[in-house]
Amino acid sequence: MSSRDIRFRWILLTSVLATVAALVGMTALSLIRLSQATIDANRDAQRTKVLEFTNAVFNRFSPSVRIFWPMNVEGIDQHWQSTGRMPDDFMSALLEVAADSVYSAVYFAPGRFQSCETGSPVYRFDPETVSFTAIASPPPMVCDGIGLLKTRLNLLIDDYRWNTKRQFDANRTHNVALINHRAEGVVGYLSYVIDQPYLHGTYLPRELDAYFGDGTHTGAHVWIYDWVRTEVVASNVAGIDYDRRKITVAQRFSDILDTWTVTAAFDDTSALAATRGTLVQNLSLLGAIVLLLLLTFTFLIRIWHKERDLTLRQAGFLANVTHELKTPIAVMQAAGENLADGRVSDPDRLKAYGGHIHTEAVRLRKMVDKLLDVARTESGQLVLKPRPVSINRIVTDYLEESAHLFQDPRIRPELDLAENLPAVMADPDSLDTIIGNLVENALKYGGDTRYLRIATRHSGKTVELDVQDKGTGIPRHAHSLVFDKFYRVEDVLTARTKGHGLGLAIVKTLTEANGGRIELESEPGHGALFRLVFPALPTPAPDTHPQIHTDHAA
Ligand code: ADP
Repeated sequence: MSSRDIRFRWILLTSVLATVAALVGMTALSLIRLSQATIDANRDAQRTKVLEFTNAVFNRFSPSVRIFWPMNVEGIDQHWQSTGRMPDDFMSALLEVAADSVYSAVYFAPGRFQSCETGSPVYRFDPETVSFTAIASPPPMVCDGIGLLKTRLNLLIDDYRWNTKRQFDANRTHNVALINHRAEGVVGYLSYVIDQPYLHGTYLPRELDAYFGDGTHTGAHVWIYDWVRTEVVASNVAGIDYDRRKITVAQRFSDILDTWTVTAAFDDTSALAATRGTLVQNLSLLGAIVLLLLLTFTFLIRIWHKERDLTLRQAGFLANVTHELKTPIAVMQAAGENLADGRVSDPDRLKAYGGHIHTEAVRLRKMVDKLLDVARTESGQLVLKPRPVSINRIVTDYLEESAHLFQDPRIRPELDLAENLPAVMADPDSLDTIIGNLVENALKYGGDTRYLRIATRHSGKTVELDVQDKGTGIPRHAHSLVFDKFYRVEDVLTARTKGHGLGLAIVKTLTEANGGRIELESEPGHGALFRLVFPALPTPAPDTHPQIHTDHAA
């Protein structure tokens, strides 16, 4: 693949990655926003509900003030000054207020009221007789309520435009001042005592129930909380304790009941829970997709790397093989030419030329065999003829046939073949090729130790064959790579040693094709041990009792 193609591939991959990242980011963001919008809308609905409730409570106290708005307060004043009595419409309005169940009593103090301590007169309205009764010692809450209202009015009477001004004294009294604008003065103060049992026991529970139910269906837990006394005044969920950490909405009453706050905690509605659930679900799905994509990309990149490595190795292999093929052909060509010319007549030289041609032809055949082995395994044309065989027998046969490999007297193969070794079901030619490759490698990479040990063993249900040397060894990172085609370890000895990186690939393919597996134990500098493991047949192969060689020299 050209470098332009590779660059194009990378640009394509990066753009796809960037597009996917942008798409995923945008989708995640819009999902979060959508869910937040639903949550906000829900929270707004909850706030509105609480606000509606506080307004309803506020309005509950309004008729007792509004009833005086159409009245001529100045006229009341004049009537009072001239007759010492209040006009009838005023008295009937008070009768209406006194009948309101939210109040337990109605008091009146004339506009000149200073304070209860200074003996300013205070009257109690009697609904029975529709008249006022002077009270010697008025209830302190009435004195407090009127005092509070008076103080407020002192501050704002000049700018005040209405004929009534109301003032709550916490939840105890509702006080109303009647204002004569022309005289810039107060005609009188009314103080309505709030009926606590009715407010706490009847009105608020009923109203809470109307707005929020008992919490089971609405999911709303509402408490009216007195923050001065730090206690719950009323709640729609009697059995559930007030817990300020759960509160999501808090709302004061405007202008009334000013020591109370309506606090509410809302359970997730099913729609909200579904929104949250969907968000989690969608985000997890997105996460999974991103993970899958990342895995795919990592996989792609790994494949590209492998592809590139293979291309490089194949290129190296081709150069190597070309060189390897050319050398024997050149030698054979030169020797053949000399012989054909008839110029050589000396029998010794004739023998030498013949020997060259033979050696090179063997080398050539071996290489072609290896290439054919690879081609066969690659194309799936490997023909195996498995039968019960004795690995011991295959080893000894191989050593006998390959005596030429051990011409160097320093090489003394150590044989440790187990007696009564069970047979294995395998193709004998494959086993021969496997052993041949492993032994050749042990000799090639065995270094100066010239050590070679071949051992067989019966272990449980398997038969094992070890081929071990004490040479350069194989670094850990290359343990799995040495079985790849064309792979050669990058070290000095390998560089000096002829090879194509095909032997172990053939060994592994053949071992596995014959139902076995191969293991490698090796540390750099401490040699290598290749172990073949095959399933054992139940009985020893009859013809295979080997001659045990412990010190086989060629
Ligand atoms: P080749 O020997 O033709 O290079 P192989 O497939 O047989 O190919 O081996 C692959 C590589 O594994 C070798 O190039 C060498 O680096 C390493 N190797 C194989 N056998 C041994 C061994 N016994 N000791 C050390 N290194 C080995």
